[in-house]
Amino acid sequence: MSDPIYAGVELGGTKCVVIVARGPEDILEHKAIPTTTPEETLGSIEATLLEWQANHGFEALGIASFGPVDLDEQSPTYGHIVRTSKPGWSDTDVARRLQRATGVPMAFDTDVNGAALAELRWGAGQGMQDFAYITVGTGIGVGLVINGKPTRGFAHSELGHIRPARFAGDDFAGSCPYHGDCAEGLASGPALKARLGGRSFDELSADDPMWEAVGWTIAQLCHAIVCAAAPHAMALGGGVTDRQPHLIERVNQMLEQSLNGYMLLPGDSDYVRPPALGSNAGPLGAIALAISASGRSSV
Ligand code: ZN
Repeated sequence: MSDPIYAGVELGGTKCVVIVARGPEDILEHKAIPTTTPEETLGSIEATLLEWQANHGFEALGIASFGPVDLDEQSPTYGHIVRTSKPGWSDTDVARRLQRATGVPMAFDTDVNGAALAELRWGAGQGMQDFAYITVGTGIGVGLVINGKPTRGFAHSELGHIRPARFAGDDFAGSCPYHGDCAEGLASGPALKARLGGRSFDELSADDPMWEAVGWTIAQLCHAIVCAAAPHAMALGGGVTDRQPHLIERVNQMLEQSLNGYMLLPGDSDYVRPPALGSNAGPLGAIALAISASGRSSV
């Protein structure tokens, strides 16, 4: 008998992806939908899901969204995108609306928590119960899975906004509108652009001194994650590290230097590693959430 079929929705700031799959090797349907207004985009996602439900059937639905999102099931705004700079999307009900339309079990989480679950199940964290997925791109996001479950408290964590110890001599003020020189304000794609006076970081060679400060900032984020939760490994992905892959080795070295022998990391020199699922980590994260909603298995 073949594996069950699941549906997944990844909501992104510029596009959304809807898929129907049994897993990474068996994707039955895949469609990208531009993120415009909530009514237009969610209407199109809903119509796509209903069409595929009629064609394939699916056991459960996973939704992995950009945030911040409300993950408190007791809250009247559970399943909403709560506060975003994306025009028109603040206070938008996503999860309950799509669950009502399809009528199947549903799980809702951040895009990065979904990606962490997908890397655990099929990618760079296979065989582990604890894993962090870090993306450094338009912002810095961290998905953190401990004992097979994404972490949460009164909200999902926002590790991209920790305030790192500054790299000696780095006096860039930072670009986060809330915190200035938090990790995202120092090392995200927009922060790098601001550091370079509007130039693209693609022009920089791997030995440019700016990467020292950027690598150190990301290593400080990893240091905080290690000290808080000690996951067995981490994946470091997103537009910045994908286009400047030397950062991964640099971050591993700087993380060891920063921990200074206080905690010994498991594995060889690849504690921080590239993600294995590439651009599919997002949609597959939604499928991993659907599997958890179906109750068929934990990680
Ligand atoms: Zn911040």
